[in-house]
This record gives sequence, structure tokens and C-alpha cells, in this order.
Amino acid sequence: MVVILKNNVTEAQIEDIKKHLEDYGFQVHESRGEAKTILGAIGVNPGFDIRKIKILDGVTDVYRVTAPYKMASRNFKEENTIIKIGDVEIGSNEIILMAGPCSVESEDQIFRLAKVVAESGSKVLRGGAFKPRTSPYSFQGMGLEGLKIMRAAADEYGLLMVTEVMQISQIEIIAPYTHIFQVGARNMQNFGLLKELGDTSIPVMLKRGLAATIEDWLMSAEYILANGNSEVMLCERGIRTFETYTRNTFDLSAIPVVHERSHLPVVADPSHATGYRKQVAPMARAAVAAGADSLMIEIHDKPEEALSDGPQALLPVDYISLVQELKVIAKAIGRTL
Ligand code: PEP
Ligand code: MN
Repeated sequence: MVVILKNNVTEAQIEDIKKHLEDYGFQVHESRGEAKTILGAIGVNPGFDIRKIKILDGVTDVYRVTAPYKMASRNFKEENTIIKIGDVEIGSNEIILMAGPCSVESEDQIFRLAKVVAESGSKVLRGGAFKPRTSPYSFQGMGLEGLKIMRAAADEYGLLMVTEVMQISQIEIIAPYTHIFQVGARNMQNFGLLKELGDTSIPVMLKRGLAATIEDWLMSAEYILANGNSEVMLCERGIRTFETYTRNTFDLSAIPVVHERSHLPVVADPSHATGYRKQVAPMARAAVAAGADSLMIEIHDKPEEALSDGPQALLPVDYISLVQELKVIAKAIGRTL
């Protein structure tokens, strides 16, 4: 249930309304926007007569939320969520670029690529130290050592870092190093992991599952939000379809659909969405045009030697020229990059 409060509502009235909702068995979440304050009342109470709340002083409107996700919904929070990390804002008018290798492979490699990321004007260095590989015989990542050298490279070039967490036990290992936790497609419905990430105060980038509907994906975001972490961004990385000429099918329309239904920022990952270098730039351009708040792109200067995802990595020179094109598209739709 969503309770919209009057513009001139007093603090005492807000407390009184919250007390009523709690007494009726609801868990209350408050959302203060510039224009409106909204209370989200969460709880299963199907026969509840919403007029009991409508008549309270300070309330302007009450309605039931039919979507199963609540805190992730735009009904609960009208304004876009902007995630601020240092001086970087994800979800604002500025489109934020994240780039780097699929995996951290060596100190030399991550420093070389961090330099490219910084020179391109991108703000976030990506790279996996714990890798979710489809085969247990493939490279599994450098682990803690990878985190240390990645953070050193990010700091050296004034970048933020994002890296994947695959299981609960890795949260405390990764937390001291990363600025953003990435939850990979294969873990989108690892609800135990999502709940624990909800307990941290580090922003989370939640990738869409390989076969997840947008509703499944928003429900997973809800797990993190409902556990207390409001800094969640959603990353579209392609879904599995019958098509074989691409690694996945990039669901471009998910970008406006999520923006309509949710206030959370949307990141697009054209690298995993397509799986082939040639397809990355066209889909990156399309993602900016479609309204993505951020892009995550894999790059490598020796893709033939990459320990994972070499075929989809852009060469530094191609990434740098793509960024110039993206700036033009961003400008055309009234955004900066
Ligand atoms: C990755 O970002 O390298 C990755 C493994 O992504 P996904 O979870 O989308 O497959
Ligand atoms: Mn990858």
C-alpha cells in the first residue's frame, strides 16, 4: 500500500500515520522526495480497508500496489534514484561509463587497462576477481590478490571500481576494496546473497538473470532494498533466447520498461549481451539512445590472450572512439557523458 502525504504535512502527523500503519501490522518505509513524501506500507493484509488510513490528517491519497515489488516501484518513489559515490552520480543526467577487462589477470594488465579507462573519461573500472565460469575447469579469477591490485589501479587513476561477489562469504573479503558490488546474472536469484547485500551500505549493481523476466529482476532488487540498502542499480546484460548468432539477446526495451516501473538507475552491458566485439559498439550506441543511465563495457589490449571473454572485448582504440560517438548521442537526447 502506498500512502501519499500532503505537501504541508507536519512531522507529528507523519509519526501518527506511521504509528497507525504499524499498529495495523504493516512495515513502514518512508520516501522523502522533493515534491512529495510517500509512505510504503508493506505487509500481507488483503482485506484491509484503506479508508482507515485515508481519513488520517496529513494523508492525501492511499492506494494498493498491484505489482509484487514495492520499494523498487515508481509508485513508491517518484523521483529517479541517484546513487552518489564520491563525486560520481549514477542515475543523474550524466551517463556514467564503466569499463575494464572481464577478469583481473595481472598487476600489469589491470594498470594498463585502468589507464585506458581513465583516459577515455570513464569513471568506473570493472573487473572480476571472483569469476562465475560456466565450466569449473575455466579460470576462476585471482581472488583477494586480484582485488588488491584492482583497487590500487583504480586509485592510481582516480577511478571507482566494481567487481563481482558470488557468495555470502565473499562479501567481507570484497567490501574493503570495492565501491560497487556486482551481482552476476547467474546469481540474480541467490536470495540469501541479496539479503546479505541489503545489510551492507555499499551500492549494488544487480545484473538481469539469463532467463529472468523484468518482474523477476525487480523482485530480486526488492530483496536488497527491503533489507535496508537503497543503493541498487539494475544491469541489462542480455537474456537467453533461441538466437545463436549472438551470445545472448540484448533486451533493449528493458531500459524504458524499467524506467517506467522503477526509480532505480539502469546500466546496460552490451558486451555480455552480444558476446562479439563487432556487435558491442552498435548496441552501446542504442543503449544510450534508449535511455541507459550507465554503460558497462569490457575492454582488453590483448584480447587473444584474455583469460575470459576475449572475443567480446573492445580494443582500447575502439573503446576510445566509441566514447566520442556516445557523447554525440547523449547530447542529442539532452544528457551529458
Ligand atoms: C561479467 O560481468 O564478467 C559477467 C560474468 O557477467 P554476467 O553475470 O552478466 O554473465
Ligand atoms: Mn565477462
